[in-house]
Amino acid sequence: MSDKKNNKRNNKMNNGDEDFNPKFRKIRKKVCPLCSDKNFVLDYKNPEQLRKFVNEKGKILPRRATGACAKHQRDITLAVKRCRHIALLPYAEN
Ligand SMILES: [Zn+2]
Repeated sequence: MSDKKNNKRNNKMNNGDEDFNPKFRKIRKKVCPLCSDKNFVLDYKNPEQLRKFVNEKGKILPRRATGACAKHQRDITLAVKRCRHIALLPYAEN
């Protein structure tokens, strides 16, 4: 009975994002990639580096995907937007 209930909920919420699945909650241990690496300097002139923080459509990934802390997610967003402005990253792809 409870199984049926859970399935319904998962189907509704699990659209390719495993964060909502309680099965993955315990294993998931994300640390901010910028906090954990002292030598990591976010550079808006480096599109290769910023590719990690955008999806294939060119959209900026949310914090639950990047794992970044609030401070660094802001930095990432700013860097990606600057990078787009100087035409090193696309605003939209396809
Ligand atoms: Zn951080």
